Amino acid sequence: MLLDSFGRQAVDLRVSLTDRCNLRCTYCMPEQGLQWLAKPELLTDEEIVRLVALAVRDLGVREVRFTGGEPLLRPGVVSIIAACAELAPRPELSLTTNGVGLARTARALREAGLDRVNVSLDTLDEETFHTLTRRHRHQDVLDGLAAAEAAGLTPVKLNTVLMRGVNDHEAPELLAWCLERGYQLRFIEQMPLDAQHGWTRSQMVTAEEILELLATRFTLTPEPSAARGAAPAERWLVDGGPATVGVIASVTRPFCRACDRTRLTADGQVRNCLFATGETDLRTALRSGASDAELGALWRAAMWGKKAGAGIDDPQFHQPDRPMSAIGG
Ligand code: SAM
Ligand code: SF4
Repeated sequence: MLLDSFGRQAVDLRVSLTDRCNLRCTYCMPEQGLQWLAKPELLTDEEIVRLVALAVRDLGVREVRFTGGEPLLRPGVVSIIAACAELAPRPELSLTTNGVGLARTARALREAGLDRVNVSLDTLDEETFHTLTRRHRHQDVLDGLAAAEAAGLTPVKLNTVLMRGVNDHEAPELLAWCLERGYQLRFIEQMPLDAQHGWTRSQMVTAEEILELLATRFTLTPEPSAARGAAPAERWLVDGGPATVGVIASVTRPFCRACDRTRLTADGQVRNCLFATGETDLRTALRSGASDAELGALWRAAMWGKKAGAGIDDPQFHQPDRPMSAIGG
């Protein structure tokens, strides 16, 4: 099992398939100049499957989420998922995507064994989409969402980051739009993980503000707390339910105490936290012929050293060198 010294067990593995992306969201990447990982540094498809298999078979991982960068840019994404769906015990398989490539891949992903998708969409307005992502791909994302639903990758979940003065006024409209379509919406507080280190607390739209914005149009009541478990989103019933909306308050109400995550970057480094400043290199060990038992021991040691919390409020807080896109968000 992947235990840490505070008694938490990691059962949820986030696997980054690439650090590259076809959008340039302002809260994630600079417009240009971000260095990509070199190809030889990336784990091969076979190496990824070997490490996921080890995590599932020997280390107690029950859920695997593929992310990035943009995971659909990885040519082998469908075959990696198909191989992971063959594992016993069969892990739950999901994918976080910007949705741009989903219209052409949703069916193949489903057939390969993917259970669900989280699609990131911050706005219903084409121009605002361009302001936020620096690309004209809004319609592709809308088409991707429809394709995900048609392919049965349900319930379709939406992730939204609100940026002050850009799309924060859209919060109630986004929720209404999702309710109409049966999509589950979760707002994520902007975190200090952008490559250009531009995050400031004063610019961040807080969970409290998000709830105030939603309350202009909806009545929100907290879902019974037992339902949250290790899920980072606090959920509210909308107008009495059963529909819900989630808020992931990573900064103002961190959920570290219940964290059950472990992370594998596209270049084969284990991270025990999004905000960790250290990593454990599985790629070098793997390529030097390490056995599954040796790799498992390295992974367990990496998790044992997990800190109690992300420490964003600590005056000593240092943003990790790797941006979100290279960790796997
Ligand atoms: N490219 C895919 C996508 O956008 O869904 C997967 C990777 S992306 C890094 C994963 C999630 O992280 C997205 O929902 C995105 O909105 C979110 N994200 C990126 N940078 C963030 C930041 N600085 N704070 C909070 N969430 C962020
Ligand atoms: Fe790409 Fe996702 Fe980062 Fe946007 S949030 S730039 S889609 S990796």
